[in-house]
Amino acid sequence: MSDCIFCKIVAGEIPSEKIYEDDKIIVIKDVNPGAPVHVLIIPKEHTDNILHAPSELLLYIQDKLEEIVKKLGVYEDGFRIVINTGVDGGQSVNHLHFHVLGGKTLGWPPC
Ligand code: AMP
Repeated sequence: MSDCIFCKIVAGEIPSEKIYEDDKIIVIKDVNPGAPVHVLIIPKEHTDNILHAPSELLLYIQDKLEEIVKKLGVYEDGFRIVINTGVDGGQSVNHLHFHVLGGKTLGWPPC
């Protein structure tokens, strides 16, 4: 989508700090981190949110997760995956993305 910031990041039109990339996803550092480790797993193909995501894509991301969290150094101590969805869910970018947060003991509830 031409006006989507994450599509522009995927296309290399907006710079990002890439942690991982393959033909289906990129993983970048969140520009406004909410924890010592805060990255975004972003599918390259535009999908508005998790409700519209193909299940094969979700399985693919789940399969990649162990490799990604090992790379981030949060495999042992744990991490949190957040998928904000819609207005009440606090989604500010309408391109599906998984927040991966960690590097400290996170509080709960998140609001
Ligand atoms: P959400 O509010 O769940 O839609 O998350 C969007 C996230 O994207 C926020 O945590 C932002 O800090 C992050 N973000 C927005 N623009 C960029 C960017 N150019 N590079 C990296 N992260 C970004």
